[in-house]
Amino acid sequence: MQTHSLQDLRDRFAPSDRLPAVFLGHGSPMNVIEDNAYSRAWTELGKSLPRPEAILVVSAHWMTQGTTLVDVSAMPRTIHDFYGFPQALFDQHYPAQGQPALAREVVSLLKSHRAQEDDRWGLDHGAWAVLKYLYPEADVPVFQVSIDMSRGLDHQLEIGRTLSELRDRGVLILGSGNVVHNLHAMRPGGKPQDFALEFDALVAERLTDRNFAALADARGLGPMLSVAHPTVDHYLPALTIAGASDTRDDLTFMTDAIDLGSVSMRSFIFHAN
Ligand code: ZN
Repeated sequence: MQTHSLQDLRDRFAPSDRLPAVFLGHGSPMNVIEDNAYSRAWTELGKSLPRPEAILVVSAHWMTQGTTLVDVSAMPRTIHDFYGFPQALFDQHYPAQGQPALAREVVSLLKSHRAQEDDRWGLDHGAWAVLKYLYPEADVPVFQVSIDMSRGLDHQLEIGRTLSELRDRGVLILGSGNVVHNLHAMRPGGKPQDFALEFDALVAERLTDRNFAALADARGLGPMLSVAHPTVDHYLPALTIAGASDTRDDLTFMTDAIDLGSVSMRSFIFHAN
């Protein structure tokens, strides 16, 4: 396995029909309306990615208990699941169509993981905040799959493994969260917290080594995990994407910065070489 810079991704993607599995650190909702290093990187990534038949999104912001829900709606609504932000954010809409037939297939695929159909969710900001940059025309069908918070970390790794076969069918699997996400320890404008740098580096190292079991071992990660993630919702989509990779993939990191002192914006892409 090799790692590549974002600049040469376009060439790397070209020869394969197998779609990449992408994890994006989404960070603050303000990235939706700000021209910054993250939003520019997402735009660049969008230009580099092959055009998928559909996008399956696992977002940190759709949490369920005891079930994995799959949105089978024909036209997912844009959910403004935040408060206290400028009106410009609430004015955003991402009018992509859903992909009900494929979404129902995903329910079958995840049957042993207690999957069920849902037609009420739509697209939360973990999904549309980044899709707006990746595919600004909203012309690729999108649907979300929820995270079952009643299960352990390794469950989400397993979900990724099960979904992996969709990559050969033109589906882009997109995870949206943050590999470090502690909103209680934010330092707006300040320097990164030591724990954030430490956990972020550990995640990068384990991903590079393909030691996903270590990333899904809450006991092995110890107190570091609960400091980096007081709740694991933003961590779990990274495990889905790790699970959706295979040994044929190369790995590319992008936007590996700590924002607000305690939110890692590290993003990564597993892609066929
Ligand atoms: Zn978030």
